[in-house]
Amino acid sequence: MYKRYECPNCDFYEISKYDLHREKCPVCGHNYHVFEEEIDEERYNWLFDALKNHFHFENFVIRPNSFLFIGSMISDFSVIRETFKNMGYYPFIRKKEGKIYLHLFRAKKQGRSSTALPLILLTATILSVFYAGLSWAKPLQDMGYLENTWFTAAIFTMALILILGSHEMAHKITAVKNKVEASWPYFIPMPFFLIGTMGAVISIKSPIPDRRTAIRLGISGPVVGFIASVIVIIIGMIISPVVPSAEYGEKAAEYAASHPGTYTVGFGTTLIFEILGRLLLSTPEGYTRIMHPIVVTGIIGIFVTALNLLPMGQLDGGHIARSVLGEKYHMLVSKTIALSLVGIGLLGSILKYGIWPGWILWGFLGYIISMRGHPGAMDEITELTGKDKILALVGVIIFILCFTPTPIYVVP
Ligand SMILES: [Zn+2]
Ligand SMILES: [Zn+2]
Repeated sequence: MYKRYECPNCDFYEISKYDLHREKCPVCGHNYHVFEEEIDEERYNWLFDALKNHFHFENFVIRPNSFLFIGSMISDFSVIRETFKNMGYYPFIRKKEGKIYLHLFRAKKQGRSSTALPLILLTATILSVFYAGLSWAKPLQDMGYLENTWFTAAIFTMALILILGSHEMAHKITAVKNKVEASWPYFIPMPFFLIGTMGAVISIKSPIPDRRTAIRLGISGPVVGFIASVIVIIIGMIISPVVPSAEYGEKAAEYAASHPGTYTVGFGTTLIFEILGRLLLSTPEGYTRIMHPIVVTGIIGIFVTALNLLPMGQLDGGHIARSVLGEKYHMLVSKTIALSLVGIGLLGSILKYGIWPGWILWGFLGYIISMRGHPGAMDEITELTGKDKILALVGVIIFILCFTPTPIYVVP
C-alpha cells in the first residue's frame, strides 16, 4: 500500500511507499492531506529497470513532474546522466545526511533555437550602435580633433560588437564543449541611447552537468569580454590626440556655446582603467588627452563585465557563487549583494556623490533574480578541484578590477 500526500492548496502531491515524515507541502507550506492509495507498480517498471544497475534505492517518491530516489549510487553519475537523458529525463544528485538524493525531472521539449532572430537583432544593434558612434564622434570632428566621423563611428561599432559578442560567444563555445544547450547571442538594440545597445545575452537551455562546468560557463564570458575591453582601451588610448589644454578648453567652450543643450558625460574610474592609464598615458604638463570614442566602448565593456560578475541568481557571477558556496550561501550572498546595490544607489541619491542612481533599479532586479535562485548543476556532489577554485578566484579579481559605484555621470 502506498501513501498519497496531497496539498489542498496548490496542485502538488507526493506518492511514496514509505513514510515521508512530512506534514506540510514543500511548495506552499499548506498542511498535507494523507490517503492510502493502491498503485499499479508495473506502471513504473521501465524506471525501476533503468535504475537497477546504476542506483540502489531504499525509498522513492513520485511527484507531478519528477521522481525522487533516495539511496546510493552504483554507477558513475555520467552513466546515470546519459541513461536518463536518452529517456527524456534530467537527473540531479544531492547529498543529504549521508544519503544520495537522485531527482529525475522530465526534460521540457525545447524548440530548436532560431538563428534568424539573433541575426535580425545583431543587424538592428549594429545600426543603432553606429548611430550612437556618430554622436560620439561628431563634436570631436567639429572641434577639429577627428578626421572622419563615419570611419570613427564604424570602428566604434566594431569595437563594441566585438566586446559584447566575444563575451557571449565565449559562453556559447564553453556550453557546446560541455554538451550544454545554449542559444546564439541575442543583442539588444537601443536606438538613440548613449551607446545604442543594452548589451547581449544568451540563454542556457539545458541543465549544467556539474559545478566544474558551471564555473567555466560563468567565467568564460567575463574573461574574454574583459580582455577584449582592455585591448580596445589600449588601442583607443594610443590613438587619442594630445592637445594643449588651453586650446582644448577654448574649443570646448565654443562648442558648448554654439550647441545649447549638449552635455558631457563622465565615467567613474576603475582599478583596471587606473592601471592602464598609469602605464600608457603620460600626458605632458599643460596638455590634455582627448579620449577617442572607442575608449568609451572599452569602458562600457569593463562595466558590463562587472555587472555580469555580480554573484546574484543566474548571472555569470551567480553560476560561480552557486558552485563554490552551495545553495544556502549563494542565496544569502545574492540577496545581500542586491540589497547593498539598492543601498549604494540610495546613498548616492541622498549624498549626491555622483553615485549612479541606476544601482537602485539593478538592486531591485537583482533581488528578484536572487529570489528565483539557481537550479544548481545536475551533479553537486563531486568536489571542486584546486584549478576550479582558482578560476572562481579569477572571477573575483576581475570583478574588483572592473567595479565602480559611479560607472557614469553627467558632468555639471
Ligand atoms: Zn502546496
Ligand atoms: Zn556573461
